[in-house]
Amino acid sequence: MIEDFANTHKLPKYRSDQFNDQFYKQAINSFDELTTWPSSIREKLKKEVEFSTLDHIQDNYSSAGTTIKTEFKTKDGFPIESVLMQYKDGRNSVCVSCMSGCPVGCEFCATGKMGFNRNLGYREIVDQILYFKRMLKKKGKDVTNIVFMGMGEPMLNLDNVKKAIEIINDPEKMSIGIRRVTISTVGYVPQMEEFFTDKHKPKLAISLHAPNQNIREKIMPKISKLHPMEELFEFVNWYEKNINKRITYEYTLIKGINDQPEHAIELSKLLYQRKALVNVIRFNPSIILPFEKPNEETVQRFVKILNNRDIKTTIRYSMGDKIGGACGQLHSFNSLNS
Ligand code: SF4
Repeated sequence: MIEDFANTHKLPKYRSDQFNDQFYKQAINSFDELTTWPSSIREKLKKEVEFSTLDHIQDNYSSAGTTIKTEFKTKDGFPIESVLMQYKDGRNSVCVSCMSGCPVGCEFCATGKMGFNRNLGYREIVDQILYFKRMLKKKGKDVTNIVFMGMGEPMLNLDNVKKAIEIINDPEKMSIGIRRVTISTVGYVPQMEEFFTDKHKPKLAISLHAPNQNIREKIMPKISKLHPMEELFEFVNWYEKNINKRITYEYTLIKGINDQPEHAIELSKLLYQRKALVNVIRFNPSIILPFEKPNEETVQRFVKILNNRDIKTTIRYSMGDKIGGACGQLHSFNSLNS
């Protein structure tokens, strides 16, 4: 956006550099704080460019105060949500949305149940991160990691996701290393091929959630019929050969659906000798979803079977489930729809 403004007003390059430093790195709170620019240009900027493409609605804090789910509205009135997770090891990770709602409609996902409004533009994605940068700056901290795991499927909004990643990764702008960016997808194979042959290659997480095609069709009918697991794992073979990085497989354990020992055994066969990390997520109950969370014994039994079969597995500690900010829970209720 600054590029267009700089072109229109024929500003020298150092003015764009000053803008990028103040806006993206220093995370100023308004264009009035862009004091490296003369006030005459600053006033034009205020008239012609929106400081933020999002209106802030509210912050919801977890009881420990370390996870914050923030609700925004786009300028045309659509709700989106983002989550800041502050870890003890110093990481401050922002989970961003790339859509308002989602058209994929996975059966266990609250976002999928709210329907689809529209794709977000790249600025709307970046402005979610800037909001948390400004918040953290007050405590002398900064955003360290980005995960595209909020509302929406990144592979269905590829151009804007790519542009946002360029800004996130640009040393002159946010300067967050590409290895600290994770993109999560349910498996739109052609788009994944396009994305991972392109310049920026963030970490890949695949929302798998099932050990076989039958179960996947039940809980993720749209994507699994369009790109069956066989096709998805052909892509995985290509990725392992060409990118050679570990893939995280997200697996939400849903009571009585995909949480039994035979499912763990089947999953371990699927991932055996692959560069894989299984991230087990306890299903996050929601009043709009007809599924239940498995008990702790079932979760531990599932993980033990995977570990015994040499499949590296972690259990995701859900930081935001009490505030509706955990995986698969982002769904705008209340004032956002009014
Ligand atoms: S799991 Fe992801 S792709 Fe599926 S409905 Fe939810 S947000 Fe969309």
